[in-house]
Order: sequence, then structure tokens, then C-alpha cells
Amino acid sequence: MSGGRHVDPLLIDGSLGEGGGQILRSALALSLVTGRPFRIERIRHNRRKPGLMRQHLTAVQAAARIGCAEIEGASVGSSELCFTPAALEPGEYHFAIGTAGSTALVLQAVLPALLVARGPSRVVIEGGTHNPNAPPFEFLARAFLPLLARMGAKVDIQLERHGFYPAGGGRIAVDVQPVGPAGLGVLHLHERGAAVRREAVAMVANLSRDIAKRELKVIGRKFDFAENELRIQPITDSQGPGNLLSVAFEFEHVTEVFTGAGEAGKPAEHVAGDVVHEARAYLASDAPVGRHLADQLLLPMAMAGAGSFRALPLSRHARTNIEIVERFLPVVLQHRQEGRVAVVEVVRR
Ligand code: AMP
Repeated sequence: MSGGRHVDPLLIDGSLGEGGGQILRSALALSLVTGRPFRIERIRHNRRKPGLMRQHLTAVQAAARIGCAEIEGASVGSSELCFTPAALEPGEYHFAIGTAGSTALVLQAVLPALLVARGPSRVVIEGGTHNPNAPPFEFLARAFLPLLARMGAKVDIQLERHGFYPAGGGRIAVDVQPVGPAGLGVLHLHERGAAVRREAVAMVANLSRDIAKRELKVIGRKFDFAENELRIQPITDSQGPGNLLSVAFEFEHVTEVFTGAGEAGKPAEHVAGDVVHEARAYLASDAPVGRHLADQLLLPMAMAGAGSFRALPLSRHARTNIEIVERFLPVVLQHRQEGRVAVVEVVRR
């Protein structure tokens, strides 16, 4: 980090493109990595409840601790924030969101910097671990982190307690070994490789097993899964009720995980139907990277300064993220459509 204090802050418009929390989290992560301060206005402008919510505020506070940053505007509801990092401090950290806000999304704001810090870190984050509209734990552990490992990142993630929306109370512990002076390695991910295994798991916490059975019945029927590819996982350590259906497709070079979170009033068949819809779109293509995985890969690949992947057509979310990444790092994330597949390539400017 290059002592951000003497550099003009980047001005980020939080209403850009998709206009969600990702803009803020990517800006935090990249500010820590580059030392470049930033000022963001109209935070989460396109969301139903704009401004900082607890999860985003915790991400800001977490990034500020790790980056010894000066912050202005860090309060719930705030739509403007100034963030000026001073020095990257690896170490032991504990962040509690205080709601069921996503632990994975708080991690997203600090993990890239911890990968390039000068020593190892252990980060414990409390909140939601299996949220709608955020990467659930299984997605991090089975889809994203193994790819990061192929880029040389040693990140060990443990689920210490399950936390579902709205009760929260979950906990993850993440051990991060920095990548060293060579930085993150280059990943080219163009093929899935041979199919290895597939599995559907329906978790139920303090809810009827019948919900899980109904979800798995849909998956079994639509994808022709055998009995031993379907598993009910009763969760006993959750503070509140919860249900998460996840379907993993493991290939030689990539594992994709599609998830749906149960919610009050949403029939189990609909939860499963949404997962089927997403997984079908993936299986109908031969691209290794699905919609959410693309979101997660952009930033570390840009940090590596090179790399490429084939993905499902990029979402507005991903394209917005690309704009933010390109504001901070001297790279261009070129993306072109080849038939029904997007090809993303990182090139140095
Ligand atoms: P935002 O809506 O801007 O706060 O960003 C949400 C983040 O969560 C993005 O990085 C998404 O790719 C990610 N995300 C949302 N739903 C899922 C899911 N089901 N699996 C994996 N990642 C997800």
C-alpha cells in the first residue's frame, strides 16, 4: 500500500450500472489493495433500501481496521463515504455484523487485500452464512476458493455455525496465507473437463424434513439424480429456522454450485424450481463459469494482471464490477460474446 493519504481520492458513483452493494465492496477491496483512497456517493442507489445496511457498514469497518483507514460517513443509512487507507495490517480479526447480513460479502471486501498482505491472517465473521442474494458458504468453499487456490491463494474456510436469514447467528473462520511477492497466479479457465460428480443437498434447520424431501424430489426428477446423489442435511446449530438447497456439479477443472434459500411463504417446489432454472442454463452451455462465479473471479484475476475465462453471458452486475475494477487497477477486462458464451480476458493497460 502506497500511503493513500497524499493521493486524490477516486470518485465512485454508487448508482452506476447495477447500483448495488458490490460497487462499494469492490471499491473497498481495491482501495486496500492499491492504497488509493476513494469517495463514494449514492451508495446502493438502485436498491429498495438505499445506503449502507449493517452488512455494508461491517464491510466498511472491517476494511478500515485491516487498512488502518480513516473513514467518514460510516453509519447505517449513509449514502456517502470517504475511505482513506494508510497501511495493510494482517492479523487476527473478528467482525460481527449483528444481523443476518452475509458473512461472505463482508469477506469479499477484505480477502483480496489479505492475500497480498505481508503476513497471514485469521478472520472470524459472524452473521448470515446461508443467505439469499449472496454467496452461501458451500459456494465459497466448493466453487470459488478452489479456483482461487489455483491462482496460488491458500485460504482455508471453516463454517463454525450456520446462520440463516432472518435470525443470523452464523460464524465463519477464514485463514489466509498471503501469496507472496509474485502476487496472484494467472488462471485460464476455458473448459469444464470431464464430469466427476454431482450432488444435491437440502439443509433444514428447525423446520420439517418434508421441505427438504420436496426440494430433492424436484431435483431428482428434473436432473435424473440417483438416490445417492440426493442428501438431506438436518442442521442442529442454527439459532433460527432455515432452509437452503444447493446443487453442485463437479467437473475436472471447475465445480459450480447453484443454491436457493427457502423463505416463509415460498413453497419448497418454487425454491427448487429456481435452482433448476439456473442450473439448466449452466448445463445447456459448455462454459465453465456461471453467473455468480464470474462476479467473484473478476477482481482476483484483475489483480493477477492476466488470465481469461469462458462464462455464461455476463450479468449487468458483472459488467458494473468490471467498471469499478478498471477504475483502480491498470488493467482492462475485455469481454466479448462468442455465440452464447462470454469470453473474459484481463490485459494490462
Ligand atoms: P450485491 O447484490 O451487489 O450486494 O451483490 C451480491 C453478490 O452476491 C454478488 O457478488 C453475487 O454474485 C453474489 N451472489 C448472489 N446470489 C448468489 C448465489 N446464489 N450464489 C453465489 N453468489 C451469489
